[in-house]
Amino acid sequence: MKPARTELLVPDEAGLARAAAILRAGGLVAFPTETVYGLGADARDGRAVAAIFEAKGRPRFNPLIVHVPDIAAAREIAVMGDLAEAVAARFWPGPLTLVLPIRPGAGVSELVTAGLESVAIRVPAHPVARALLNTFGGPLAAPSANPSGRVSPTSAAHVLSGLDGRIDAVLDAGPCEVGVESTILSLTGDASVLLREGGVPAEALAAALGAMPVRPDPVNDLRPDSPGQLASHYAPRGTLRLNAARPEPGEVFLGFGPGGGDLTLSEAGDLTEAAARLFGCLHHLDEIGAERIAVAPIPSDGLGAAINDRLRRAAAPRD
Ligand code: AMP
Ligand code: MG
Repeated sequence: MKPARTELLVPDEAGLARAAAILRAGGLVAFPTETVYGLGADARDGRAVAAIFEAKGRPRFNPLIVHVPDIAAAREIAVMGDLAEAVAARFWPGPLTLVLPIRPGAGVSELVTAGLESVAIRVPAHPVARALLNTFGGPLAAPSANPSGRVSPTSAAHVLSGLDGRIDAVLDAGPCEVGVESTILSLTGDASVLLREGGVPAEALAAALGAMPVRPDPVNDLRPDSPGQLASHYAPRGTLRLNAARPEPGEVFLGFGPGGGDLTLSEAGDLTEAAARLFGCLHHLDEIGAERIAVAPIPSDGLGAAINDRLRRAAAPRD
C-alpha cells in the first residue's frame, strides 16, 4: 500500500500533530535528526516497520535503530547496565546508538531487531526529532530516509528526491547538522564493541568507558548485517526446505497464501503481513520444537526479496 502523495509538513504544533497521527495509523514519516533524516514508523507495529523496508526497497532485513525521547524510555525497552547508563548520561541526547539486551516484553516488533535478543537504541538531539517523539509518545524505528543503496539524506528535498510518493510525510526542518550517521556501540557482551564509526568519536567514548572500545574484525567477527554470519542472526534450530509445494511426512509446513499450513506467514498472500510475521513465525517453530520445516514459495518482488534473503540464510548449512 503506497500513499498517493507525500505530505510536506512544517514542524509546528499542527505539523507535529499530523505526523504523530500518521504514525499512530501505521504510516511512515521522515523526520530530521542531528545526523541525517530518518524514516520513522511505530517500532511496536510490525506492518508499519515492514513498510519501511518496502519504501526503501531494502533487499534484506537488517535490524533498525529505535529512537526514544529520553533515557527513561530507553530503560523500558533495553536492559541498561552501569556502562550503558554512564555512556548514555554523557552522550544522550546525541549521535550515539547503543546495542543492548532487549527487555522481555518490551513490545518492539521482532522485525526491528531481526529476531535478535538485542536492540539498538538512541535518544536524538534534534529538537524536531524530540518534539515528534514526545508528541507521538512511543518508540520510532528509523533507518535513514533514502532508497536502499543511495546516500543518506540531509534535507527534506533529498528525502523527496528518493521517496516522494512512497512515504506518507516528511517533516521539513532544513538541513541536518552532522550529516554522518550515529556511532554504534554494542554493550551486550563483556567487551564494548564499536560496530560503526559516526558522530561520536571513539576517543570520546573511551573517556566515558574507561577503555577504548574494540573494533570488530570485519573478516572474522560476527555482524548481524553481514551475510553468512549465521551465529549472529536469528535462525530456527530446525532445518529449512524452501520453495516447498507441500510438506513431506514429518515436516512442519510454513505456508504463504490460501491453503495455509501448520502455520502461515500470510494466509492472504500479503508480503507486508508476511514480513511483519516472519521472525515471530521462526521463533514459534523453535517453541514447538520443529526439526524439519518446509516453507512455501514466496514471490520475490517487493518485500519478498528480503523475506527470501532471510529464509535462504536460515536454510544455509551451519555447524
Ligand atoms: P541504520 O542503517 O543507520 O539504521 O543502522 C542500523 C544498523 O545498526 C544495523 O545495520 C546494524 O549494524 C546495527 N544494529 C541495529 N540493531 C542491532 C542489533 N540488535 N544488534 C546489533 N547491531 C544492530
Ligand atoms: Mg542508511
